[in-house]
Amino acid sequence: MGSASQMEPRALSGEAYVKEWRQFARRHHLALFLLYSWIPVCVFLFLLSRYWIHEPELCLAIMGLWLPAALAATWWAGQFRCPRCRRRYGALGHGRSVNITRGLFDKICSNCKLAKFER
Ligand SMILES: [Zn+2]
Repeated sequence: MGSASQMEPRALSGEAYVKEWRQFARRHHLALFLLYSWIPVCVFLFLLSRYWIHEPELCLAIMGLWLPAALAATWWAGQFRCPRCRRRYGALGHGRSVNITRGLFDKICSNCKLAKFER
């Protein structure tokens, strides 16, 4: 039982690196997509409700759920672990202030300074 690899965080290499970054890119893009699409989605739902389906409550509910979903995706992206040092790449609450967008917009690992998408 218990492989050595689980005992201590180890740096990844080659294939694993690429795989990790690909996974991070997916989370990253999902978070950005949800964040940036929120306002257009609100406008679209507003117009849709006003001129077509006339369901303001439903549209408000979707608008109200979209934002937490976007924030959740942002948080999820921030939970990503750096492939080199295995610490969270842009963890919430790192440093002096809590900044939810850290993981999204940081260019380097706050811990080992590994550049984003670097191998
Ligand atoms: Zn790192």
